[in-house]
Parts: sequence; C-alpha cells; structure tokens
Amino acid sequence: VSRNPNESEFHQAVKEILESLIPVIAKHPKYMEHGVLERIVEPERMISFRVPWVDDKGKVQVNRGFRVQFNSAIGPFKGGLRFHPSVNASIIKFLGFEQTFKNSLTGQPIGGGKGGSDFDPKGKSDGEVMRFTQSFMTELNKYIGPDTDVPAGDIGVGGREIGFLFGQYKRIRGGNEAGVLTGKGLTYGGSLARTEATGYGAVYFVNEMLNSKGLSFEDSTVVVSGSGNVAIYAIQKATQLGAKVVACSDSNGYIYDKDGIKLDTVRRLKEVERKRISDYVLEHPTASYFEGCQNIWSIACDIALPSATQNEIDEAAAKLMVANGVKAIGEGANMPCTLEAIDVFLEADVLFGPAKAANAGGVAVSALEMAQNSMRYSWSFHEVDDKLHMIMKNIYKNSVEASEEYGYPGNLVVGANIAGFIKVADTMIAQGII
Ligand code: NDP
Repeated sequence: VSRNPNESEFHQAVKEILESLIPVIAKHPKYMEHGVLERIVEPERMISFRVPWVDDKGKVQVNRGFRVQFNSAIGPFKGGLRFHPSVNASIIKFLGFEQTFKNSLTGQPIGGGKGGSDFDPKGKSDGEVMRFTQSFMTELNKYIGPDTDVPAGDIGVGGREIGFLFGQYKRIRGGNEAGVLTGKGLTYGGSLARTEATGYGAVYFVNEMLNSKGLSFEDSTVVVSGSGNVAIYAIQKATQLGAKVVACSDSNGYIYDKDGIKLDTVRRLKEVERKRISDYVLEHPTASYFEGCQNIWSIACDIALPSATQNEIDEAAAKLMVANGVKAIGEGANMPCTLEAIDVFLEADVLFGPAKAANAGGVAVSALEMAQNSMRYSWSFHEVDDKLHMIMKNIYKNSVEASEEYGYPGNLVVGANIAGFIKVADTMIAQGII
C-alpha cells in the first residue's frame, strides 16, 4: 500500500487475488522461492503521457494517456483502452492486473495490459473524438505492435474510436498491420462476433453455473446494468435463452420495463444516436425511468448481470438482492462488486461468476481476431461463436476444478484466480527472474 499510495482500486484487485492464492502458496513453496508474487503485482512497464488536442472552439485541451504493460509471460500484452473522466493510474493498474489472469484463463497466448485516458467522449463531436484519438495514438504507437502489445476497446472506446486509432497507427507506421488492434470494423480485419463476445460470453458462463444446479435462463427475470457494448449483447443472449430482461441503465439512471426491455430501441438510442437511456420511455410510455443508476439493484430478479463499471454493487445492494431472492450473478463489467458484496453473495450460496472468468469472452474473441489477422482469413459468425462458447465452458470447468483441488468447492472467485495464476506463474519461473 505504501508503495502505491492512493491506488484503492488496484489494492482491492490485488487483495482479492492474493487472498485466493493462500492455499496455492501453502502447497507450492516454489512460487515464494522464485519471488513470483512480488513480481506479478509489479507491472513490467507503466507509460503515462500528455495528449494535447484542439476542440471545436479552437481551444487547446490536454488529457492524460496511459498504457500499463502488466505481464507478457504467456504472450503479447493484451487489453482494452478506456476513455472516461474517472481514468487514473489506479484504475488502469487494477484493470491490467486483472487482465493478466483473465487472459490466462482463456487458454489463448496473450499477456495482460490495459490503457486509456481521462478524456470524456460524451458530448464531443466526431471531429473532436478523431483529433483526440489521433493525438493519443501519436504517442501510443511507440509502445505497441502485433507481437508486443495489442490494445482493444473498453468503456468509451467502441468501433468509431478503434477506427480512428487504427487509421492513425497505419499513417504513422506505414504498412497495414491489422493485428495491432482488435475490435476493428469488419472491412479492415475485424472479427465477426467480436462485438457480441463479452455479453454473449457472460451469459454462456452464467448458463453453465445455472445448469450445474438444474436451473436455466428460461422464464427467469434478469437485471442488466449499463447499456453499452457488454450490456446490450448480454441482454440479447439472455433473451434468446428465454429470459425476460426488465431493466438496464446508464450513468444517469435506469429504466424498468415489466414486459421486457425492447432491445432494438436501446441499440438505436445508444449505438446509433448516442442518446441517454431516459429517452427509452418516450417511445415506450409503459416503462419507467428512474434518475440515479445505483437503485437498479432494488429491482427483484433471479439473475443479475452488472455490466457497467467497477464497484457498482456494494454490501447494502448485495444484501437487498439476496433478500429479493437473486439466484445468480455474472460480472459482465470488471470488478462491479465490492469485496464485501462478493462475501454477501458467497455466504448466501448465490451462484457467483467473477469478472475475470465471466467476461473473458471479449478478450478471447480478440485473440481469435489476432489469429484470423495472422492467417489473413476470416471465420464465419457461427465458427467464432462456437469457439467462444467452447472457451467459456472450459473457463467454467477449469475454475470449478481449481476451486475443488484447493479446498473451496464451488467458489469460482478462488477457482478462477488460481486457474489463471498457475499458468502465468509457472511460465514466469520457466523464463527466469525477469
Ligand atoms: P461502454 O462504454 O460500451 O458502456 C458502458 C456502460 O456503463 C454505459 O451504459 C455507461 O453509461 C455505463 N457506465 C460507465 N461508467 C459508469 C459509471 N461510472 N457509473 C454508472 N454507469 C457507468 O463500455 P463496455 O460495455 O465496453 O464496458 C462495460 C464494462 O465491461 C467495463 O467494466 C469494462 O471494463 C468491461 N468489459 C468490457 C469488455 C468489452 O469487450 N467491451 C470486455 C471485458 C470487460 P454512460 O453511457 O452514461 O457512460
């Protein structure tokens, strides 16, 4: 803590992992002998840079850019870019740290990284977003490449931003290295099913948890927070599996539609028109809009898929959800539940799918996008979706097996942390003290 002052999110993520690893360290002293824990919590490299750009009024704006290259033991650094005013070193480091274990869990050869900026794309014109992203990439390009570090999207970085970033990278570096970014458009090296992958993957993962108890999405009531990339495709897949999704949100508030959210409206409002979720009720007057996003967790549901941002479910919200009869949680977002909230769910025997397992589908399909770029070939939607489904089943199976082997049967927080850790840790030992 004294080494990384004021980095509460990073401390939270490290605490969760290190506590889970206690039985592993007890069984395998080699990890202590080789200094694996001390090394694994320290990023290989943390880059911070100035991002100057000119807004539509001709005024100079300055944002801060980050890239953390956390761990490259098992493959090139890989992880998204987040553009949101809350971005700082602590947020980027917690995300990069988690990403290392998540990427290992996917079974794909990718290391952990993350990046972003405190730039807020909301309310900015396309021209402003382009000028900002071009300035951002003018610095970032020095540190990335298809075999070294491959960024993707995250909060505030979707297809538009990836397009501008790729264009600027190509312009500076020459050539056409498609594999330098993932989440690209389909006309220039993107993978089918990448857009859907995180949301679909989270639902596939939760479905495995439900099936293990003889339950399913069929006829269940679901609440999904957020209305961005992860939320939209989680809503779509849950609905396809027979669930009724009754609520979703943005950072201003949430909507409740007892008849089930009309996804076409949400997609148009958020993906095309870039409007607020409150506009939904103008088109569907029987639905209700409530200001403030936190209270979405007061809505009773069988399955909750928090898919907006970190620490959106605290202990009080978790207790309320348990009292309202929630049966399963799948973390679509990164670290949406506080450590105290996770304890509430585990103590109440609620099925709990932690982020690094449940939302690994996005980065898994990003790795498949890199593979397709290397082959200069593209798979069909079904081929990618089938591979994604298989990867999510394997992540579930490996997490369950690790939880059993180390004495915490059914605790997927511990299971996912251990399964993700062992591969990275053994590789770090094999590669020497670096
Ligand atoms: P988007 O930017 O597409 O959507 C984010 C959604 O969450 C928006 O509805 C946004 O509302 C809301 N939101 C953002 N910040 C806050 C906040 N501080 N409080 C309340 N609501 C907020 O991002 P994604 O869907 O891509 O990402 C969502 C989460 O999923 C993040 O935690 C991300 O790290 C994680 N994730 C994403 C992956 C991906 O492939 N995209 C992969 C794995 C994890 P508003 O529009 O008002 O900002």
